[in-house]
Amino acid sequence: DWVNFIEFFNRIIDRFEMTINQNITFTRNFFSDDVYVDIDTDKLTQVLDNIISNALKYSPQGRKVTFSVVEKEPFIEVSVSDEGMGIPKDQLDKIFDRFYRVDKARTRQMGGTGLGLAIAKEMIEAHNGKIWATSVEGKGTTIHFTLPYDPSLEDDWS
Ligand code: ATP
Ligand code: MG
Repeated sequence: DWVNFIEFFNRIIDRFEMTINQNITFTRNFFSDDVYVDIDTDKLTQVLDNIISNALKYSPQGRKVTFSVVEKEPFIEVSVSDEGMGIPKDQLDKIFDRFYRVDKARTRQMGGTGLGLAIAKEMIEAHNGKIWATSVEGKGTTIHFTLPYDPSLEDDWS
């Protein structure tokens, strides 16, 4: 379906903002109000639910989560940044593998199976996008993904 990604993303972020009881600040940086993408909304919801849940799960109280959407024609790049524990450099690619979890002892008590990002990768690639992570240990993590969009639908024609 063709949807305005910004509206869709805002709705998902709002849902988290209303239900989390963690003391975390959400910041949104979007380059436009209208960005049209052709996506399976159920699948993209699942992708974003996992990325945002991870940002919250692996961050202490009182931190910031920043959402951004930038234009890299003909793609948009979506990113979710946290100020959590971070991921060691040599494991940045591995977190997208099935069942891979950084530091098994530490993550076991947090619940989950280690499938979230593997599923996210499959779904983003099925939409002809890419997904990757950047991180500084002890400072935070950013998950980035791209999606093709239609720049001609972006302007208002009124
Ligand atoms: P599931 O998503 O299946 O409930 P999970 O969250 O452990 O379990 P993934 O979402 O695939 O699995 O993430 C894989 C691993 O990557 C996590 O176990 C964690 O070690 C690491 N990770 C993912 N996101 C972050 C993040 N924002 N900060 C720090 N580590 C992260
Ligand atoms: Mg997860």
